[in-house]
Amino acid sequence: MIKLFLFDIEGTTTDINFVHQVLFPYAEKCLKEYVLNHQDHPEVIKACESVKATVREEEGKELDLNEVIEKLLHWIKTDRKHGGLKEIQGLIWDVGYMKNDFKGHVYEDVKPFFLKILDKGSKIGIYSSGSVHAQKLIFGYSVEGDLTPMISYYFDTKVGGKREKSSYQKIAHETQLSPAQIHFFSDVPEELEAAREAGMGVTHIVRPGTKPSSFEGVADFRVFMSFL
Ligand SMILES: [Mg+2]
Repeated sequence: MIKLFLFDIEGTTTDINFVHQVLFPYAEKCLKEYVLNHQDHPEVIKACESVKATVREEEGKELDLNEVIEKLLHWIKTDRKHGGLKEIQGLIWDVGYMKNDFKGHVYEDVKPFFLKILDKGSKIGIYSSGSVHAQKLIFGYSVEGDLTPMISYYFDTKVGGKREKSSYQKIAHETQLSPAQIHFFSDVPEELEAAREAGMGVTHIVRPGTKPSSFEGVADFRVFMSFL
């Protein structure tokens, strides 16, 4: 029997465009006002200092607060991965979720599948490259309501990369299950390959826009529910 159903988020439970079409534009829109209004906030100070340090090192320039904001907006446009930017985006998203400015997207077949899994006595886990904090926000403030009471485990890249076999072995170890008792769902074949090598059962979730693979694939969880 499968004891743990393990889910990727982006492209699996959630529209792959949610992050790029909702979260990123929201952070960009709010960034200037947020930084100006929270410039005494310790986390904002720390993030701004790390931006200044990077620019000092790379360009030999000293930035004031307005220039830091300009730099952050430029980095959003050029998709630069910077810790300071990530930190501030995370703080802005926290506020956005709490204010109900947007909700975490989950496909409509997800909640019924979660209910069925719990009804059968199995557990639900998440494994995503987004931080555990970000994962809890998506499911906590989702279009289907608060799904976090249904979820027993959250894993992010602290257990390792999603394309590495050892990450899936660690998840099995941490949940005290054998890999064969865990079933993993993802839209990315390389992740499925790694999980399968670790001994897990896998299913390719083929949402609109996902390329099919040689793995057994289903379009949504309704198909899978009949096997439970
Ligand atoms: Mg994915």
